[in-house]
Amino acid sequence: MKPPSFQYHRPQTREELGALLTSLDNAKILAGGQSLMPMLNLRVIAPDHLIDINRIPELAGIRETADGIEIGAMTRQADILSSPIIRDRLPLLTRALEHVGHIQTRSRGTIGGSCCHLDPSAEQPAICTALDAEFVAIGPKGRRVIAAADWFQGMLQSSLDDQEFLEAVRFRPWAKGHGYGFAEYARRHGDFAISGAAALLEADGGSRIARAALLVFGVEEAPRRLYEAEAALVGQIASEIALAPILDAARALDPMEDVQVTADYRRHLAGTLLGRALREACTSLEQRS
Ligand SMILES: Cc1cc2nc3c(=O)[nH]c(=O)nc-3n(C[C@H](O)[C@H](O)[C@H](O)COP(=O)(O)OP(=O)(O)OC[C@H]3O[C@@H](n4cnc5c(N)ncnc54)[C@H](O)[C@@H]3O)c2cc1C
Repeated sequence: MKPPSFQYHRPQTREELGALLTSLDNAKILAGGQSLMPMLNLRVIAPDHLIDINRIPELAGIRETADGIEIGAMTRQADILSSPIIRDRLPLLTRALEHVGHIQTRSRGTIGGSCCHLDPSAEQPAICTALDAEFVAIGPKGRRVIAAADWFQGMLQSSLDDQEFLEAVRFRPWAKGHGYGFAEYARRHGDFAISGAAALLEADGGSRIARAALLVFGVEEAPRRLYEAEAALVGQIASEIALAPILDAARALDPMEDVQVTADYRRHLAGTLLGRALREACTSLEQRS
């Protein structure tokens, strides 16, 4: 199918982009096009204006800042995956990106596009949630910074309004030598996951866990942190973790049901994948610390 007709705009700066968003009705931003173009071709959406942000150089790039790492919204997934800075400081993101689509889709697809599209099974917004990332948005009133916990407003719905765009995602990396683990189940490699899980662990200088993050995605409409299970991990010895509170947390989830799998199946998968991600995080904590 062909997309419905629209007017095409190609701003060269963030200011031009902002002006277009405030003056045009029913406009859509085009980033890597890996989700937007199929939706246009299937006529799921019919914007009157398409604003192509591929020629705004300030929106792309990976920067080390005083507080951590900032990744421009238009940074391609392939560039993040191959970045030595990301591999060193945000290794969970590198690990998860290996599962995102294919080399062709990663060469066009952007972190910003994925975090604005918000497919429940998308790895990048999930890892942003695990790492407590911040989303930097620009709108008519200037810049605002949105915590990952406030970013998700429902199925495919971020907290951006129609006149705002995502400029960058900010991360505060965990301590050097932290442990990380990731597991997902997809029917074929490169497909969207049916469900996935991630774990981050920091040691107290010895063998006990001082900080933990646990997350499932593709289970409910948005990625879900398991805060109680995280708290239960603190103080435990990494090699002797009790899995019972984690499995209890998985049982309490309220999974989606769709044509692929039932809610019960997703709940079971969540527990299995959490266990795998956590074991991988424990092993990497022991090896890296
Ligand atoms: C075959 C195939 C397999 C895939 N497999 C996976 C997978 O396994 N895991 C996964 O996570 N994804 C997968 N994807 C999707 C892919 O990761 C997309 O790149 C991503 O969903 C969207 O990024 P994009 O840059 O292409 O954004 P686009 O498609 O251009 O835009 C997506 C949405 O975000 C909005 N948007 C984009 N940038 C901004 C911005 N800066 N500010 C405000 N709004 C913005 C757009 O208006 C649009 O609504 C797959 C895609 C394909 C085609």
